[in-house]
Amino acid sequence: MSASFLEELESIPLLDNHCHPFEVLPSPRDSTSYLNNFTEAHGGSTHTKAAKSVFVLRLMRRMAEVISLITGKETLTTQDGRIDADLLVRAREEIGDLYLAKRLFEVANIRSLVIDTGFPPPDRAIDLEVMADATATNYRKLLRIETHIEGLVAKANSYDELLDLLEDDLVDIRDKGYWGLKSIAGYRGGLEISPLHSRDEIVTGFNQLKKAERSGERVRLANRPLLESLVYRAFLHASRQNLPIQFHVGYGDHDVNLDSANPTKLRNLLEDPELSGANFVLLHNCWPFFREGAFLAAIYPNAYIDLSFGIPFLSIDEMETVAKAIVGTTPSNHIVYSSDGVRLPEIFYLSAIDGRSIMGELLSKMISRGEVGEGDALTIANEIFFENAWKLYGFDE
Ligand SMILES: [Zn+2]
Repeated sequence: MSASFLEELESIPLLDNHCHPFEVLPSPRDSTSYLNNFTEAHGGSTHTKAAKSVFVLRLMRRMAEVISLITGKETLTTQDGRIDADLLVRAREEIGDLYLAKRLFEVANIRSLVIDTGFPPPDRAIDLEVMADATATNYRKLLRIETHIEGLVAKANSYDELLDLLEDDLVDIRDKGYWGLKSIAGYRGGLEISPLHSRDEIVTGFNQLKKAERSGERVRLANRPLLESLVYRAFLHASRQNLPIQFHVGYGDHDVNLDSANPTKLRNLLEDPELSGANFVLLHNCWPFFREGAFLAAIYPNAYIDLSFGIPFLSIDEMETVAKAIVGTTPSNHIVYSSDGVRLPEIFYLSAIDGRSIMGELLSKMISRGEVGEGDALTIANEIFFENAWKLYGFDE
């Protein structure tokens, strides 16, 4: 294998097909609030759990390197070689999110983003133009459908009014500024979605939600007949407009019941002729169901698997296992790279550099075994890192 193979691999720009806006906070972070960005743990002292994960230990070491380069100081390591979280967080807060993002995105060669604007909430999310400007990226937005519906409940006095509002928003999704949908049904009871529910059940579901809204409670679309019938309507629109639909699958939120978040539960949708115009992107490597996800993306013409090196929060070893399974099973034109970066530029960056190095080693091994040629390996990397998502999310339109 030529040395230039790894150089060429490094030079492929990244299109991150699943990420979120940075978060804007009124005051600087301390190490506790910083660490809480890198765990899905819930209840108890989550930052301690984060600090004890291999993911965070790696993140802190990588960030200490970059921060030392930026500041010219090497004071973030303790005598026994650990990274001092308080010092690290203070240093990165002094640099500031936007300048840090600029440097990290430059080093990682991240060019384009597909952004789910449903999280963080709008009052804490950065303006996307500011984010794109700071990171020198271009982007496409996705509409998180459950969150969008929750927002409509306040404006609708009846189920039929809700349908009208939803219809207006979805009849031309691109015209509203979105290039696809994102569903979190996997975190609201599971991925098995059927349009077959009685109107009575659905209207009852709406009335319960409206009651919650009127009494000032949090509006959370979790009633299954209502959720399933509404998101299915949205999927029909996406299909008619040939837009992709992302599904959160497996690890990604503490709300998930893993049993019901297995991607094989999506079979009905994948085989539904009414939805054949939409492509389905299965997020988070479908971890721990990455083999199931890889299989679905290998056999269905409309299924893609997301290869994420950011979230879930894994060690290099586990990410290698995931990448081996996915790249080893799914044709390369059905795999798309992501970080699931959110709130801070760190996850975008760590995912990018780890993803490049893991893919470099994996493909190098395939080349040295004579399994693929260098040209094949570069095509695989180009497709996964950039080209597939470029087409899928209409960057070429
Ligand atoms: Zn996400």
